[in-house]
Amino acid sequence: MDQYNFSDFTEENYRKMIRLAKEKYSFRTYGDVDSMKNGVIWRHDIDMSVHRALALSRIEKEEGVFATWFVLLHSSFYNVFEKNIYRKLKMIKENGGIIGLHFDPDFYESVNSDITGLEEKLILEKELLERVLETEIDVFSFHNPDTGGGFLDLEQTHIAGMRNVYHSSIRNQFSYCSDSNGYWRYRRLEDMIRDGRPDEKIQILTHPVFWQKEGMSPRERVMRCVDGRAANTMKEYDELLKKNHRENVMQPVARSKSYRELQF
Ligand SMILES: [Zn+2]
Repeated sequence: MDQYNFSDFTEENYRKMIRLAKEKYSFRTYGDVDSMKNGVIWRHDIDMSVHRALALSRIEKEEGVFATWFVLLHSSFYNVFEKNIYRKLKMIKENGGIIGLHFDPDFYESVNSDITGLEEKLILEKELLERVLETEIDVFSFHNPDTGGGFLDLEQTHIAGMRNVYHSSIRNQFSYCSDSNGYWRYRRLEDMIRDGRPDEKIQILTHPVFWQKEGMSPRERVMRCVDGRAANTMKEYDELLKKNHRENVMQPVARSKSYRELQF
């Protein structure tokens, strides 16, 4: 299965990639897009795992760099309003991360690339996330922008007071590498950084769920995240009963072993 480079997607290799990138490029924000002549903007779209995101943000902090973290309000894998998730997102911010909005237009039946409806929902989510995380948000990325709807063709560089990272001016100026779906669809990140010219502008998109402690298939990485969440939820339920001295009634045969045995 080496064609999918499982061993690329580890914390150890993540650190190696950061080190390679910082040898050649300075780390920039989306606010630098118009003025920067070269450098790297490193972005994470948090589709599934805030736990993995925090682990990567610690590596960035240790290496003295930072990234922009796009937070999704409609994920089936995490919820910004859960105490545990909220706290981790705040810690990512404290580690030097910049928070952006990861916007899923597919959530709204009424939203298409018609700018008025889109802007209204972007304002709503921007304000919500700003208030919850107590931070200003001036940049957004679309979740799954290429699945129809014309979101890659929008003329506006900014909508709802936020920079649109999929605007053509960014896509045309920056070399780009993405780990979407847990493998390299085009180039390996390592090749891109090694071969890149120092006078280039590069944008790197990573999805934290795909970067684990050890190499495994993309599906296993997602399963690990789902199982971890389920285990934590059951742990919370069991602890609540215990704390309140209530009986934890269960059918031994139907009891799921996997969730009880998983430690996270
Ligand atoms: Zn996404």
